[in-house]
Amino acid sequence: MVSERSEGGEAVIKATEMDPKFKYEISKIPGAEKIMLCFQCGTCTADCPIARFSDAYRPRRILRMVQLGLKSRVLSSDVLWLCAACFTCVDRCPQDVEIAGVLRTLRNLAVKEGFMPAVYRELATSVLETGLAYKIPASRLRKRVEAGLPPLPKADVKSINKLAEVTGFSKIIQARRT
Ligand code: SF4
Ligand code: SF4
Repeated sequence: MVSERSEGGEAVIKATEMDPKFKYEISKIPGAEKIMLCFQCGTCTADCPIARFSDAYRPRRILRMVQLGLKSRVLSSDVLWLCAACFTCVDRCPQDVEIAGVLRTLRNLAVKEGFMPAVYRELATSVLETGLAYKIPASRLRKRVEAGLPPLPKADVKSINKLAEVTGFSKIIQARRT
């Protein structure tokens, strides 16, 4: 969907895309309870090490979007995944908002809705297929043998898949919106 843009190039917010219940839904989730206390001072953005290097990443803006109920925009946004969970913002927020907790909550909801960056989907798929987040190339395994290193331990892929099935993780990995 192509969003309308203002003269300044910002995506225009339409009243029809606002979900007034979204902020209440989020504030019921542990870690995100204080989202309504954010008064937009911007301290979190000013101190965030990721915002320093990315013009797109603004934790203050994400919190405002949630308060405004821009659910689809927030959950489908790639910037959600830039937070490094360093907790600097949590230490500095004058309102005690657990910003990193809000980001974690939003990511979990995004995944449930089928929004997951390809890189995380690949990591999860690799874990289900091999038990390892990173598939070790055959050339690397050969080098281990040449170096006289013992073989890597085998993962219990069957149990991992059983666990993924019982917890619903397998279905989440298959659901895809992006
Ligand atoms: S520091 Fe706290 S109150 Fe200020 S904008 Fe960030 S979350 Fe809101
Ligand atoms: S926890 Fe995330 S949002 Fe907060 S300062 Fe660290 S990287 Fe930025």
